[in-house]
Amino acid sequence: MDTYTYVIGNNCYVNLTNRCTNRCTFCVRNGKATFEGYSLWLKEGEPSAEQVEESIGDPKKYGEIVFCGFGEPTYRLDVMLKVCDWVHARGGKTRLNTNGHGSIINQRDIAPELVGRLDGINISLNASDSHRYEKLCQPIYPEMAFDSMLFFARECKAQGLNCWFSVVDCIGEEEIGKCRAVAERVGIPLRVRPTIA
Ligand code: SF4
Repeated sequence: MDTYTYVIGNNCYVNLTNRCTNRCTFCVRNGKATFEGYSLWLKEGEPSAEQVEESIGDPKKYGEIVFCGFGEPTYRLDVMLKVCDWVHARGGKTRLNTNGHGSIINQRDIAPELVGRLDGINISLNASDSHRYEKLCQPIYPEMAFDSMLFFARECKAQGLNCWFSVVDCIGEEEIGKCRAVAERVGIPLRVRPTIA
């Protein structure tokens, strides 16, 4: 049976899709059958909200329910929002880890729909400019990927959502400094996370 949710530490992670607008050189799914012992390739199709909810069980058992798997969760925006409401109704907390392409994927500004649904949004900044971003993330829409991610971040901030950028530490100190400057311009914090081998 496919893995719709998986537990790491105190959090429950939700694997909604294998679709993604990027082909990041550092992605944990590159050449891997599993992540942390979980098989996250969906062989039987993408899960419904009900299947995810059944797999979560009691959301209050976990620190957070995190939408983050072998793909970009905003491809499943409607299912994610349903699960968010279900989690909140049961006293749980929600977070989205995203590449920030949700508004181009859904062809509208999705930030207003996230208000009251997500308690935290981690947006992968990854690079300080579009040229570096294209090299590192190999987006399928290279001409708009970086700018649309920044647009999404600005709209999340404008909606008062709790959001922050992240970069992986493999990009080096100088590039991290430039990413910090981008984050300051957008007006949201930057978190540096270790690269997962
Ligand atoms: S955006 Fe995330 S899921 Fe998509 S390729 Fe990059 S690291 Fe992997």
